[in-house]
Amino acid sequence: MSSMTSGVVNGGVSFWFADDGLPVTRTPLVGDAVADVAIVGGGYTGLWTAYYLKKAIPFLRVTVLERKFCGYGASGRNGGWLYNGIAGRDRYARLHGHEAAVRLQQAMNATVDEVIRVAGAEGIDAGIHRGGVLEVARTPAQLARLKAFHERELAFGEQDRELYGAEETARRVRVADAVGSSWTPHGARLHPVRLVKGLAATVEKLGVTIHESTPVTEIRPKHAVTPYGTVRASYVLRCTEGFTAGLKGQRRTWLPMNSSMVVTEPLSQEQWEALGWAGRETLGDMAHAYMYAQRTPDGRIALGGRGVPYRFGSRTDNDGSTQPETVEALREVLVSFFPSLAGVRIEHAWSGVLGVPRDWCASVTLDRSSGLGWAGGYVGSGVATANLAARTLCDLVALDSGQGGRTELTDLPWVGHKVRRWEPEPLRWLGVRGMYAAYRAADRREQATYAAESSRLARWADKVAGR
Ligand SMILES: Cc1cc2nc3c(=O)[nH]c(=O)nc-3n(C[C@H](O)[C@H](O)[C@H](O)COP(=O)(O)OP(=O)(O)OC[C@H]3O[C@@H](n4cnc5c(N)ncnc54)[C@H](O)[C@@H]3O)c2cc1C
Repeated sequence: MSSMTSGVVNGGVSFWFADDGLPVTRTPLVGDAVADVAIVGGGYTGLWTAYYLKKAIPFLRVTVLERKFCGYGASGRNGGWLYNGIAGRDRYARLHGHEAAVRLQQAMNATVDEVIRVAGAEGIDAGIHRGGVLEVARTPAQLARLKAFHERELAFGEQDRELYGAEETARRVRVADAVGSSWTPHGARLHPVRLVKGLAATVEKLGVTIHESTPVTEIRPKHAVTPYGTVRASYVLRCTEGFTAGLKGQRRTWLPMNSSMVVTEPLSQEQWEALGWAGRETLGDMAHAYMYAQRTPDGRIALGGRGVPYRFGSRTDNDGSTQPETVEALREVLVSFFPSLAGVRIEHAWSGVLGVPRDWCASVTLDRSSGLGWAGGYVGSGVATANLAARTLCDLVALDSGQGGRTELTDLPWVGHKVRRWEPEPLRWLGVRGMYAAYRAADRREQATYAAESSRLARWADKVAGR
């Protein structure tokens, strides 16, 4: 490690938990129990689902079973981009037609507003600042991708999106070598842990039972099995995203992909003035191995990207500890974006897992014959998507139990989407490792050659990925 990354707090779940405090865990399940709906996983998907179910049908008995504590997964570790991106939209357009994908996009735009609305209504102070999303291009190839991306978004009705040249970009954020950027108002920065803790407290007040330190080992129709007892429920909803492979029978369902983050010490007033970034936009780039960043509520930069992307056998880490090479690589990205921060201290590094389906499409399903449901596969865009998925699961349960009809949400194209499973090992490991090595090599080549066309390596990697 360099002197700038020595002394970094590594793991400990995440900086967000270090900042807001690790929770005192709620009591585990003791013996068998009965509920109407059992939810497995206490992240955004599980907790939002509990929230909307209780709001819609107050007498419903809803139990959340969480292996560690609420927010232990990606929901307590993410980059805090609450934005309107959804994994798989373009494929859904190919499968179900453009109009259906436009409805999905519009539902995502409304979801950003919905999360902000509920946080306000429930008194959850999640440090939300709505500054939109700014994505920058730093090479000609990235600029070509940015323009194509911008055009595609316009075609989906995203008319309020803007395209900036180098100077306009610098007026927002002074990113070294930026040649252009694209901005959309449909995004906000937030403090992930304050949101997830606030949600857990809110659903408890509504009468939802949450058991923590309670791992579910198997999900069967009408049964969620744990070492301490079984919860019997008409509906069992699997909301375990990147951890899904750990459940019996699910090893090849969604691949657990790693993402890693670092956070700086708080920056001084002068440092902020040198960077601009007064609008607190969430900030990303158009590299194949992309980065994402936010200006935190307490004046730091939190920045993420790919570390070791995938562990053999779909294993997941425990407390978020991150390899020193990854910490150093993320520091280098930070300094490359903002050379004036060369001497800044990195305070904390951590990692988490997200769930990647074989076709990279997020989906929501309720199987009416078994009462089993699930939502996830958000890839890297789950902060807002989990809320839309949860409202959709809620409507599907209401429809199935005769307490509601079809709604705009139950008709969205990602409902009931089927996808094939991942290849067995070692193919899975070789494929994903190869894909990310190719993306990194493509980024290096595009930077070195300054060519306007995306590297062929990246197109090869897209093919391997099945995108
Ligand atoms: C480092 C990182 C950065 C990210 N940045 C962004 C971002 O800026 N914007 C964005 O939109 N998305 C981002 N994402 C993705 C986003 O955080 C996730 O998509 C979202 O939080 C998923 O929520 P979830 O509730 O479905 O899953 P999780 O938050 O992972 O929750 C699943 C829960 O299930 C529990 N669990 C697992 N197995 C079991 C079991 N057997 N029994 C009981 N409980 C179990 C886990 O402990 C966990 O608490 C990021 C992800 C990571 C890892």
